[in-house]
Amino acid sequence: MALKIQAIRGMNDLLPEDTSIWQQVESVLRQTVASFGYQEVRMPVLEQTALFSRAIGEVTDVVEKEMYTFEDRSGDLLSLRPEGTAGCVRACLEHNLIYNQEQRLWYMGPMFRHERPQKGRYRQFHQLGVEVFGLNGPDIDAEIIMLTHLLWQKLGIADKLSLELNTLGTKEERLKYREALVQYLEANFDKLDEDSKRRTHTNPLRVLDSKDEGVKEVLKGAPSLMDFLGEESLKHFNDLQELLKAEGISYTINPRLVRGLDYYNLTVFEWVTDALGAQGTVCGGGRYDGLVEELGGSPTPAVGFGLGLERLMLLLVTLEKVKVQSPVDVYIVGQGAGATLYQAKVAMALRKALTNVKIMNHCGGGNFKKQFRRADKLGAKVAVIAGESEIQASTVTLKDLINQESEQLTVSLENLPQAVLNMLNKKD
Ligand code: ATP
Ligand code: MG
Repeated sequence: MALKIQAIRGMNDLLPEDTSIWQQVESVLRQTVASFGYQEVRMPVLEQTALFSRAIGEVTDVVEKEMYTFEDRSGDLLSLRPEGTAGCVRACLEHNLIYNQEQRLWYMGPMFRHERPQKGRYRQFHQLGVEVFGLNGPDIDAEIIMLTHLLWQKLGIADKLSLELNTLGTKEERLKYREALVQYLEANFDKLDEDSKRRTHTNPLRVLDSKDEGVKEVLKGAPSLMDFLGEESLKHFNDLQELLKAEGISYTINPRLVRGLDYYNLTVFEWVTDALGAQGTVCGGGRYDGLVEELGGSPTPAVGFGLGLERLMLLLVTLEKVKVQSPVDVYIVGQGAGATLYQAKVAMALRKALTNVKIMNHCGGGNFKKQFRRADKLGAKVAVIAGESEIQASTVTLKDLINQESEQLTVSLENLPQAVLNMLNKKD
């Protein structure tokens, strides 16, 4: 026997029971972003590697060790996108979408990072991304946070997620802080772990979210970025908090929250849960006012977030907030002379009349018992029966498969759509 080829580690197949859940959740996401007037963009999953190293930063984990990078057949250096913001900015610049104009955009799709696969962490994963360009106030920061909060409410998990908030100030403020932090870290160098030692000189702010206990202890005495913020940065942060409070969104300020990518300034936030173990961050985002210019555009304020769909699904399934839906509402069975033709005709007419009902026609023959077993297995709610007498009389008989006791009902083809709807609606 030939050796079976398996999927790549950390890259998952979504099977019908998974897609049933994904589709329900995706439709809540789509409907919610649309309700804020945001528009969808779709970018390629491959981009030039230079886009990511410039946007995300050379010395970030993502660029240093997580990207899938290769040379294609023409010798171009390409990477599978590890996140969506860089590609979204590239597309906006390429098509002149953000020069002197606002844009509120979203996208959904796969991202790729070569990380160690574990629960909630995969090598191909999916994000909903939201990016807003051309607005620099705390009102829009608050809006995208409200959008995420509304999502949690609609999905029934608002009480399971908490909001962590921080501000990174301006680039200049951060540079001054960086100097003070490096000085402090150098003074405590021998107490740092290897990662933090390395980062002290490459990306010192990342030391702040070290998980190492020893490092955490050292950090208790570290200078705080808050003390380096100017009046404007502080006002932006305070105004944002006022807006969140007014909407009843509670939060905690986490001065250690710096986020993994280089491009953030001012507002940063994460939605975290303790229901998923170590991979508790479901959604993260913030302001990135310097990125558009960094990628060759004119200075354009911007803010956005990425929401990890696998972690969201895990949370929803763990909390039993979504159920697999049966693929079929109505199952059509038949037997006798002319049944095959008759069933197909009834099925097609019914599908045309009831566009949102899932109608499956039994194929492959067999006795009624076998056909009803199939209907049950699929979770159908109504059976439409075409036996000899029905075919003769141009009628069908409806059977309620949920309330098996209730009487069967014979109807003309003309009255069939309404009769099916009545029977289905009784279920809800
Ligand atoms: P983490 O700290 O968990 O590695 P991150 O800071 O690298 O997350 P972001 O780049 O901010 O993550 O991406 C936004 C969201 O995408 C995360 O909050 C998470 O929900 C999800 N995400 C990131 N990496 C992965 C992954 N490898 N597998 C599954 N989901 C992921
Ligand atoms: Mg990461």
